Amino acid sequence: MLETRDLSVFYGAHRALEGASVKVEKNEIVVMLGANGAGKSTFLRAIGGITPAAEGSTVLLDGADITGHSPDDIVEAGIALVPEDRGIFADLTVRENLLLGAYPERARAHEAENLERVLSLFPKLGERQSQAVHTMSGGERQMVAIGRAMMSHPTILMLDEPSLGLSPLLCKELFRSLEQVKDTGVGIFLVEQNAKQSLAIADRGYLLDNGHISGADSAEALSRDQAVIDAYLGGGGAKTPARAPARAAAAADPSKSNGGGEDNPYAITAAGLAGTKPRIEDVLPVSIDDLVANAANVSSDHVASTRTAAPEAAPAPSAPTAAPRARPNTGAGDELQEMLASFEKAAADALSGKTRPAGSGSDNDGH
Ligand code: ATP
Repeated sequence: MLETRDLSVFYGAHRALEGASVKVEKNEIVVMLGANGAGKSTFLRAIGGITPAAEGSTVLLDGADITGHSPDDIVEAGIALVPEDRGIFADLTVRENLLLGAYPERARAHEAENLERVLSLFPKLGERQSQAVHTMSGGERQMVAIGRAMMSHPTILMLDEPSLGLSPLLCKELFRSLEQVKDTGVGIFLVEQNAKQSLAIADRGYLLDNGHISGADSAEALSRDQAVIDAYLGGGGAKTPARAPARAAAAADPSKSNGGGEDNPYAITAAGLAGTKPRIEDVLPVSIDDLVANAANVSSDHVASTRTAAPEAAPAPSAPTAAPRARPNTGAGDELQEMLASFEKAAADALSGKTRPAGSGSDNDGH
């Protein structure tokens, strides 16, 4: 188990972290939520020995005091950190990056087994082992970073905003893979601003506010907590999100979704569009039914005369032989009228067989 007691960090006179105490068990996912500048990265760096902790701070791993140990010793003890910038070697291949993760003594004897575990967690990496990392997408790089950390055979995996820069769908995938990592017996401590998705996979959570831990509870309770909802879930909350009508409708009828998923706040759903998109009848001056009926009734003589009068000119609106159903003037412009007339003409041409597209006819008939 990882435990911090009264962990504080100063940058000069600035106190970035004050008396923060957390616990992360093996086999659980713990998330720390905090706004920009709250001290989340500082917290992870202090645990990892990268940023010195202030006097009076304690970091314990399985009861052993590792406060003030070097970053290498802390990795050797079993804590791996995936930093916010991912810390991977962009010019090296996926395989080279992964194998570099196995440098600690504790990991060497387990290299083959850990590589197999990483490649089964992220099958994409298996297919791309010889690909240079700089040619990979953000999501794939994040997999490499997590995979490399896993190669150090950690008991605790810490991740600094792993969802940063990833689409909601990729985040979901990534967080699912963290659940699988947890199932291998590793404790996961992640700091995040993406409250919704991280709380969905976490067992417990802490709130970090301006260097202080201002709350701690089960992930489920936090996702229902009004203060958390207001601060991190857009005020709408997990149960009643800001765009509830469209998203609730899409969730109720998945066929109405464009595939973005109910968790995607930006998903465009048919239900969502229905409220904003004007109906075609409100835009066109005639109904589609009338348009088709008119086109069918336009005489071939009329088409011929139009052609003779102005062969190159844009077709003028033709007088339909059957008057369209009266429609209110919607203000559609001349351009639209001309376009509709050209549709009519084209349909009439096709019906009368007078104009066939170049190349049509016997050449194409047999195909
Ligand atoms: P973000 O989500 O934006 O990454 P964070 O919660 O991770 O923010 P930290 O990066 O830990 O926050 O920063 C906490 C505070 O400490 C901020 O006010 C930041 O400006 C300050 N800080 C961080 N690193 C240093 C540093 N090396 N020197 C001085 N101040 C720093």
